[in-house]
Amino acid sequence: MRKQFAVIGLGRFGGSICQSLRKQGMEVLAIDTNEDKVNKFANVVTHAVVADSTDENTLKSLGIRNFDHVIVAIGDNIQSSILTTLLLVEEGVKHITVKAQNDYHEKVLNKIGAHRVVHPERDMGVRIAHNIVSKNVLDY
Ligand code: ATP
Repeated sequence: MRKQFAVIGLGRFGGSICQSLRKQGMEVLAIDTNEDKVNKFANVVTHAVVADSTDENTLKSLGIRNFDHVIVAIGDNIQSSILTTLLLVEEGVKHITVKAQNDYHEKVLNKIGAHRVVHPERDMGVRIAHNIVSKNVLDY
C-alpha cells in the first residue's frame, strides 16, 4: 500500500513537501486554515482540507493517527506549531517531522516528542556550504 502523509501548513516549505511527495507517488492530505492556500493545492495533493490543526477534535475526525507520517510546516505561529505537535504525539502518530523557526522552538519540539525537527534555512545553508567546498576541492 502507498504511504500516507499529512502536511499541515501550506507555506513555501509545506507546499514544496506536498509537491515532492506527490511526484514520488505518495498519498498526501494537505491541511491549512487558509482556504486560498487549500484551493491552490487541491489539484496537487490527494485531499486538501481547510482545518485548524490546533483543534483536537478536528485532528481526530481527520483520522490523523492512521497516517504514516505527519509534517508540521507551520512557520510563524510557534504556539500553533507546538500545540499541533503535542496533539499529534498524544494521538500516537508514528512519524512526526516539524519545521522549527528558531533554536528555542526546536528545543521545545524535541522535548515534547517530535521525531524529527528540521530547520530548512539553516540545514540548507550547511548543505550548500559543504557542496561549495567539495566542488572547490574537486576544481582546484
Ligand atoms: P514558508 O517560509 O515555508 O512559506 P512560513 O514561515 O511563511 O513558511 P507560515 O506562512 O507562517 O509559514 O505558515 C505556513 C502555513 O501554515 C500558512 O499557510 C498558515 O495558514 C498555516 N497555518 C498556520 N496555523 C495553522 C493551523 N493552526 N492549522 C493549519 N494551518 C495553519
